[in-house]
Amino acid sequence: MKILLAKDAGYCFGVRDAVNLAYETAKKEGEVFMLGDIVHNENVVHELEEAGVNVVNSLDQVPDNKPILFRAHGTVPDLWKESKDRVMDVVDATCPLVTEIHEEVKKLDSEDRKIIIIGDHGHDEVNGIKEQVKNAIVIANPEEAMQLRKMKKAGVVSQSTQMIENVQEIINILMTKVFDLRFVNTICFPTRRNHEQIKSLSEICDIMIVIGSFTSANSKRLTELAKIRNERTFQVTSVKDLDIDWFQQTDTVGISAGASTPDNIINDVLEKIKLIGKVSEEELVYE
Ligand code: SF4
Repeated sequence: MKILLAKDAGYCFGVRDAVNLAYETAKKEGEVFMLGDIVHNENVVHELEEAGVNVVNSLDQVPDNKPILFRAHGTVPDLWKESKDRVMDVVDATCPLVTEIHEEVKKLDSEDRKIIIIGDHGHDEVNGIKEQVKNAIVIANPEEAMQLRKMKKAGVVSQSTQMIENVQEIINILMTKVFDLRFVNTICFPTRRNHEQIKSLSEICDIMIVIGSFTSANSKRLTELAKIRNERTFQVTSVKDLDIDWFQQTDTVGISAGASTPDNIINDVLEKIKLIGKVSEEELVYE
């Protein structure tokens, strides 16, 4: 059995930097606080808690003189203001590519355009983008785009982890509804690269394993992209979800992982698959 591991499987640089910053800050300050999980992965959250990285629901719950870390996917302006007014020690782990989306959306707004964000309702990154301007709307899928009324001027950005196919379908519909439409493609390059990798990898493998939490939209999207091309696609959260039966009559196994899946979980899954398939040689890295 041959194993092909997607080259960029796992943490994107934005998440990796944020997680490292959380560990470093907790080590230096004894504790650090965050409004919500830093990544959508239960194992990472648990390990972070043990290191002194705590999740709170509001700034009120942060003890005096303890740092608050703003996460990779961005923070709404009200929270920035409140933390500044309270003179809190803010550790900013916002991914620079999310900051870029905030800048783009403000530019589109300054051109008097109705702002449309293609993304998941209620997702923290999407909320962070939406709150940069007044009256932005979120469209998650083509059905919602169909409901929109005609308008004169609109500016569109997307959540960084969107699938290009969903964005393209929505833009096609918007072209029939908006006279003066400007779209800035804000799908981030790690997402684009990972999506392209899994699309081609799933076509050349007998089975595909996607490693990631079911609470991670990003991991679920990878699974979706692979499943369209390879029906023997399975998503696992860790090594314990692997089923030996999946690997019967299999020559090639493809492996990828969501942007919130840490290296140790990927390695454990990889080693277990090697055991199942009696693979002694190194996995091949698929670019
Ligand atoms: S998915 Fe993209 S935008 Fe989001 S944290 Fe990772 S690199 Fe940054």
